[in-house]
Amino acid sequence: MHALLVEDDDRMARALGTALAQRGHTVRRVGRALDALRHVHEAGFVLLDLGLPDLDGLELLRRLRTVCDAPLIVVTARCEERDIVQGLRAGADDYVVKPFRMAELMARIDTVRRRTDPRSGRAGAPPAHPAHPGGTGGGGGRPAPVRTGDVEVDLAGRTVTVAGVEVRLTRREFDVLAFLAARPDEVHSREVILDRIWGDVFLAASRSLDVHVAGIRAKTGRSHLVRTVRGFGYQLGSPAAPAEGDGAR
Ligand code: CA
Repeated sequence: MHALLVEDDDRMARALGTALAQRGHTVRRVGRALDALRHVHEAGFVLLDLGLPDLDGLELLRRLRTVCDAPLIVVTARCEERDIVQGLRAGADDYVVKPFRMAELMARIDTVRRRTDPRSGRAGAPPAHPAHPGGTGGGGGRPAPVRTGDVEVDLAGRTVTVAGVEVRLTRREFDVLAFLAARPDEVHSREVILDRIWGDVFLAASRSLDVHVAGIRAKTGRSHLVRTVRGFGYQLGSPAAPAEGDGAR
């Protein structure tokens, strides 16, 4: 697969480029944000350093996300919780702090690519447990949109409307919401959500889940749309009537 490596440090770029090539990827390395924007459309996945000479990496990440949906991993020396949360919120699929073990980064690349590959069945609306069995794509009818309060989740069309107005969620936010909406009567454990949507249960993904739930609540303006079941997981909620035991936002 073709990788876009955004890294201004030559030594780091060489090491990463060699490791990627050894795993069969072709690599375009750029050292400036401007060049990243120019070449991102050709990338199968992106590795992004945040400390760049011409633009803050987080700002670049936001701009990349407006034009490109490719899997993206931030690879940076910034290790504050705040940076990690901002990176994930801005649309990174994973976040790796330097110094890192090369083998671990390569494994994370594989995981991110797997879970964002529509053919793998992990990305998109939950394929294994459709709300309407037999209704996902392949010849049958489309599954009916899931409604709760004034929120409508169209699993097939991957759209969300609140009071009739479409709300734009990131791909991952939609995946989480769609997973909950596909089986609205069940409480889903964090582990199951992480495994089914992220394909893994490692630390960054675990934090990422909370960030994405917060994003869903904020963007829809319906803080009770996702119900927190403390110490366990999440369930689709009723935006109008907060359920008992609903957790903090
Ligand atoms: Ca740098």
